[in-house]
Amino acid sequence: MSAKYIFVTGGVVSSLGKGLAAASIGCLLESRGLKVNLMKFDPYLNVDPGTLSPFQHGEVFVTDDGAETDLDLGHYERFTHAKLSRDNNWTTGRLYEQIIAKERRGDYLGKTVQVIPHVTNEIKAATKKVAQDVDVLIVEIGGTVGDIESLPFIEAIRQMRQELGRDNTLFVHVTLVPFIAAAQELKTKPTQHSVKELLSSGIQPDILLCRTDRFLSSEIKSKIASFCNVEEEAVITAKDVASIYEVPIVFAHEEVDTLILRRLRLEAKDRDLSKWKDLVHRVYNPKDVVRIGIVGKYVMYEDSYKSLKEALVHGALAHNLKLEVNWVDAEGLEAADKSYEAQLEDYDGLLVPGGFGKRGIEGMLRAIQYAREKHVPYFGICLGMQTACIEYARNVCGLADANSSEFDPATPHRVIYKLRELRGVEELGGTMRLGAWPCKIETGTLAYKVYGQTEISERHRHRYEFNREYEEPMVAAGLRISGSTPDGTYVEMVEIPGHPFFIGCQFHPEFKSKPLEPHPLFKEFVGAAYEHGQKLKEHKESAEVEMFLRPDNVGRR
Ligand code: GLN
Repeated sequence: MSAKYIFVTGGVVSSLGKGLAAASIGCLLESRGLKVNLMKFDPYLNVDPGTLSPFQHGEVFVTDDGAETDLDLGHYERFTHAKLSRDNNWTTGRLYEQIIAKERRGDYLGKTVQVIPHVTNEIKAATKKVAQDVDVLIVEIGGTVGDIESLPFIEAIRQMRQELGRDNTLFVHVTLVPFIAAAQELKTKPTQHSVKELLSSGIQPDILLCRTDRFLSSEIKSKIASFCNVEEEAVITAKDVASIYEVPIVFAHEEVDTLILRRLRLEAKDRDLSKWKDLVHRVYNPKDVVRIGIVGKYVMYEDSYKSLKEALVHGALAHNLKLEVNWVDAEGLEAADKSYEAQLEDYDGLLVPGGFGKRGIEGMLRAIQYAREKHVPYFGICLGMQTACIEYARNVCGLADANSSEFDPATPHRVIYKLRELRGVEELGGTMRLGAWPCKIETGTLAYKVYGQTEISERHRHRYEFNREYEEPMVAAGLRISGSTPDGTYVEMVEIPGHPFFIGCQFHPEFKSKPLEPHPLFKEFVGAAYEHGQKLKEHKESAEVEMFLRPDNVGRR
């Protein structure tokens, strides 16, 4: 059987949560026993988001095959079991790159190469490629309807409806129904205009997902239905929720999946969302709070560390905890005095995430030293592992000025360096180590306790590595190398024995964490942090009681 296609477009404004909507539809269809895949087209001209600033475009999500993709692919993986690769995310830039390469090779046999049919054909071919072996492919078109740059994609999906028919294609349009306080009314006009815009490209939406802060009454729904030429039951209240993991449940409540199955003439079993319901119950009924400080450069922009934040949430949920996460500006920890201690003491656990460039490094080293000496759980990811090694080299091994050659090319002790460049790998084309690499975990380590196995695979995105020339002095001083590539070339994990939790990993485990399958590193880190916080609290309380009972206080009670 060939796949059915659901095309998700967005209107009115950006940031309406199209990606989450697509992911949630995928989740609902899986809950009915269907096999789904998801893909996203990004209409911008960059070949991939790898070179885009995360502060402008959000995180770069990395897949197993090493593709640097849009952060929405992270949502797809967290909400479904789809296995994503570079085939699941296309930018206009990459499509054109491919088309121009073909043109230079002479593949078009002297024809004039045009948007229609050559670009649209590439879009359709890319779509069909990932629709193999699944029941439903959900295709998200980035950007907002009406943008010049998204026109070829809209045209391609219009053609697909034409070719495959109504039973095999479905258009879902995500739109906004704002509440205007002055009028005390929900307004349908932006939605009407957005649908008009779609219609002018030849697409009549089948389902409208209306983002709103309150439930749409049946009057409003019928008004939208009538103006936009859709059935009333296809006007869906996509109400704001406090947790993204509630979205599938909200959609189920509105019977979005039932509607999709009927429209696409798909047979499926009854919906089973029990695990998601249990998850959402835990989201809203935590037993306590855990406070994690993320130490990095700049101030955190919500989207630039999306997967990291979600992985921490998953770790907290695994212990029935609510995550309170704060961004600690690393540069703010660099003052000569001890003021950094006050900025760090309220956290149950500290984390240094991935990052590039020199800025804030000294502040990160401060935070790591603090965590190491005060036995505060520490989790270093990528840059956070590299800085942990630098800190250990400087302050435990006495290698003054130890550094990464990324931050100080002239350092006397390059504990972190560009190993692959030295080996000539760079000439072979790859500047970054990207995607999944196997790692062998040493038994008897905390890493082994966390993973419970010796062979793992995790995703990478970095240039620099631990320098094995420093292995001997650092291991002699107490650092433990707990994970390496199976051939021993690259150090993948380090830890400090005897510390409640001090782990650095060269890879990015956050890319593989899912709400229903929290990543073991995040689960154990958050667990250790909570335990540490509880001990601190007990200690504080007993210190207060002791103060109270001191003989010189008796009589003052
Ligand atoms: N800047 C470091 C490197 O390139 C770390 C990268 C990261 O944290 N993703 O190796």
